[in-house]
Parts: sequence; C-alpha cells; structure tokens
Amino acid sequence: MSSKIVLITGASSGIGAATARRLAADGHHVVLGARRVDRLEALTRELREAGHNAEHAALDVTDPESVKAFVEGAHTRHGRIDVLINNAGIMPLSRLDDTRVDDWNQMIDVNIKGALNSIAAALPLMKAQGHGHFVSVSSALAHYVAPATSVYSATKYAVRAIFDGLRKEDDQIRVTEISPSFTESELLQGGDPATMAWVQSMAERFNLPASTVAGAIAYAIDQPADVDVSEIVIRSRAEL
Ligand code: NDP
Repeated sequence: MSSKIVLITGASSGIGAATARRLAADGHHVVLGARRVDRLEALTRELREAGHNAEHAALDVTDPESVKAFVEGAHTRHGRIDVLINNAGIMPLSRLDDTRVDDWNQMIDVNIKGALNSIAAALPLMKAQGHGHFVSVSSALAHYVAPATSVYSATKYAVRAIFDGLRKEDDQIRVTEISPSFTESELLQGGDPATMAWVQSMAERFNLPASTVAGAIAYAIDQPADVDVSEIVIRSRAEL
C-alpha cells in the first residue's frame, strides 16, 4: 500500500478524528482541518507519538480563503494532495414549521458550500497533477427524508449530486460517497430539543462506532488507482 497525502475536513471529533487515526495507522500522511485547533493539536500529538505522520491547520469550510489556504498549504508542503475527505458537517434538525432559518442557512453553508469550497480549492491541483480522490462523508439521509430532516437531507442530497457529477466529468479523479446512518460522534448539537432528543434515543440503539465508518473510507482509498468505489452505505444491522 502506498502512502498518500490525505486531507480531512472536520477532523477534530467523530468520524473525521476516527478516520485520521485509521488512515495514519495505515501509513498515510494525514492533514487535519477544523475550527477547534486545540482538538487538532492533541490528535496530531497523539498520532506523532504513535510514530505516524500527521499535521494540522485551522480550517473553516464556510470561508473559501480558509479552505484555499488549507489545501494549498498542504500541496506546497508535500508537492501533491492525493485525497481530500469532505467530512465537516452539522445537523441541527427541526421541522420546517419551526422556521429555524438560521439553522437552515448554517447547514447550507457548512454542508453544501463547504463541499464546494473544498472542490474549488483542490480540484485544479488534482487535475494539474493528473490524479486525485474526493471522499465525501454523506449520510443515509442523502437517500431518504424523515420528518424534521428536510433541510439536512436536502444538503446531503445536494452534495451527493455534486460529487456524482464530478465523477462523470473527469476520469482522472476518483469520487467516493460514504453514507453512514447513526454513528458515534458529537453531531447531535443544536436544533429543536424534542427532535434532537428523539434522534439521541435512536442513536443510542443504533450507533455505529466511528471507527467502522473510518474502515469504509480506508477501503475506498486503498483500492487500485483504476478502481472507483462510488458509494458505501453503512448502518447497524439492528436498524434494518
Ligand atoms: P462531529 O460533530 O463529531 O464532527 C463534525 C466535524 O465537522 C467536527 O470536526 C467539526 O469541527 C467540523 N466542522 C463543523 N463545522 C465546520 C466548519 N465550519 N469548518 C470546519 N469544520 C467544521 O460529527 P460527525 O463525526 O458525525 O460528522 C462528520 C460527518 O458525518 C458530517 O458530515 C455528518 O453530517 C456526517 N454523518 C454523521 C452521522 C452520525 O450519525 N454521526 C451519520 C451520517 C453522516 P469544529 O467544530 O472543530 O470546526
């Protein structure tokens, strides 16, 4: 297995942090981005003390200049970027008749515009180097809508469409969607308290370990260069 330069957005907790641990242990060089730099510092230290290759930088995916600096900084330091994992996301759920417009806009900014900012920063560099791989942490809710998930699902449907289009536009670039259902993380914040309490009760029954999702990402990354793992949908057996 060759060592890859792997950028991870939203690496400060949950699936992003678990993915950093897995990929670093697999021998890849991970570049961690998020807003909570103290978390990233601690994770980078942990990985380096274990003998792995890791670095971090502050990142706000809603700010195109921040994303550009994160991606171009890694490219300058390493001469290439092999994989970008679009993982940063938020999920403050509520019914539409709650009209939590600020939450809607934040989900659109982080989940959709954040993904587009990452594509804008990384795609030209990947095309110039002649290869690249986007892995997008999507969701089971990119496949169906439940009451109170309308806007979150809409962001995940949108990002799935964007990356599906990218796969069809360019045969040099690999594109993988990872669509987990309930997974252990810090995602359940904000939103309508009653809705979020209901989701929490479901999560307690059905949560996957974040390391399981990380394993699916590792599988996609480690396939031969001419293989595109287009999508992995993953959920607890108990949920079905
Ligand atoms: P966490 O809340 O643990 O992780 C979310 C990550 O996103 C954090 O590292 C957070 O870092 C980062 N983030 C949020 N906003 C921004 C921003 N503006 N700029 C940069 N980073 C940001 O939750 P998960 O690990 O669960 O979430 C990871 C992905 O998995 C999300 O896209 C989520 O939608 C998806 N997902 C999660 C599921 C679950 O059940 N947990 C199921 C299906 C999909 P910081 O706050 O430090 O910036």
